[in-house]
Amino acid sequence: MSKFKVPYKIYLDESEIPSSWYNVRADMKNKPAPLIHPATLKPLTFEEMRPIFCDELIRQELDETTAYIPIPEEILNFYKMYRPSPLTHAVFLEELLDTPAHIFYKFEGNNTSGSHKLNSAIAQAYYAKKQGLKGVTTETGAGQWGTALAMACSFFRLECKVYMVRVSYEQKPFRREVMRTYGASVTPSPSMDTAIGRKINAEHPNTTGSLGCAISEAVEVATSTEGYRYVLGSVLNQVLLHQSVIGLETKAACKKYGIKPDIIIGCAGGGSNLGGLISPFMGEKLRGEADYRFIAVEPASCPSFTRGKFAYDFCDTGKVCPMAKMYTLGHDFIPSANHAGGLRYHGMSSILSQLYHDGLMEARAVEQTSVFEAAEMFARVEGILPAPESSHAIRVAIDEALKCKETGEEKTIIIGLTGTGYFDMLAYEKYNNGTMTDYIPTDDDLAKGFAAIPNVNL
Ligand SMILES: *Cc1c(COP(=O)(O)O)cnc(C)c1O
Repeated sequence: MSKFKVPYKIYLDESEIPSSWYNVRADMKNKPAPLIHPATLKPLTFEEMRPIFCDELIRQELDETTAYIPIPEEILNFYKMYRPSPLTHAVFLEELLDTPAHIFYKFEGNNTSGSHKLNSAIAQAYYAKKQGLKGVTTETGAGQWGTALAMACSFFRLECKVYMVRVSYEQKPFRREVMRTYGASVTPSPSMDTAIGRKINAEHPNTTGSLGCAISEAVEVATSTEGYRYVLGSVLNQVLLHQSVIGLETKAACKKYGIKPDIIIGCAGGGSNLGGLISPFMGEKLRGEADYRFIAVEPASCPSFTRGKFAYDFCDTGKVCPMAKMYTLGHDFIPSANHAGGLRYHGMSSILSQLYHDGLMEARAVEQTSVFEAAEMFARVEGILPAPESSHAIRVAIDEALKCKETGEEKTIIIGLTGTGYFDMLAYEKYNNGTMTDYIPTDDDLAKGFAAIPNVNL
């Protein structure tokens, strides 16, 4: 493929936004393990999930047979505000690397929340509204998910209570204020509003909080407040389903210009963007119609896939949530204090965990200084300032493109570029000042997290 056979940016038409989401579970022979109740160890039923999640979202969570689920018109209309997102041919990066590889990226950062998370936030807010609920609660780390949910809730006039990891609440005021601008209430976690927050504060008086702890608080508030439910921005099957809009658009753009990807690379925190990006391609692979390599990229300081255990574990520190079978570092795991690049969740989507376990996907762990090096290379030639999370995928794409330079292979690589890095300048500042360091947890460090994983053999 010569450089100019395809446009630099491939824009789809508004009418080419997919009209259904694709549910990869329908094509998986080994289905992902179900969420189970921590007391009974039985798969959670629809009725058991109703106090926590919205009804229609539970149906989507449990549906492992319907391949295509229509996107309601109200959600499609909202998607039109910022979709389709372009697939860009990274010609300037190819030139810089002097590689025969063809590199493309799907950029999801062109909306105010700055990431792909809005794709699922708007769906979840829609189903909550349709059920006649008053509001939703959630947790947020650095604030991308909280921001996306705040935007979605304000669109459908729903209340939105966000529990924000305390260290981010204090150190990252900008996203906090975006959320409040869209009408959300934002509380630093652990707070004194909830039983679990008071317990964690009493046991760890100076804690700066964690995602797992904020989840526990948000679930407690949702289940104890009339007309409220809890929503989650990653990990769950329903979130990967909504994010399939990324992969479906990518596939449509590829089809338009005869692009045949060899390798598809995405960063993995809880697995939603990667799951969404690869789903339609994975479907082809599962049905034996095509073959692709998929690479999940994670921080070396939070290596769920590459060093975690495939086991049932709690989704949150406070153990108020159901248990999921996934690659996990243990629900108590918190990355070392110098970790700056996001993707800090201890577990991973059950769908991706199963696919990885079955050898259908690869995973790589990368150190943060090399991630920021890749981010700066990319920004300087392609213009977009990437989110640190997205830059994990850029790192591995660059490594793969450099391998092609060695071998002379003309591979086609697609990167999931999940978001913008505008709100991550404290991390960039550390890198620019030369004060960013890498820490790879030792086996002993990880053993502490593994020790807390419950002994469930199903
Ligand atoms: C949240 C986030 C991620 C990681 O979440 P996944 O569920 O693994 O996709 C990646 N990139 C950006 C920009 C994010 O905001």
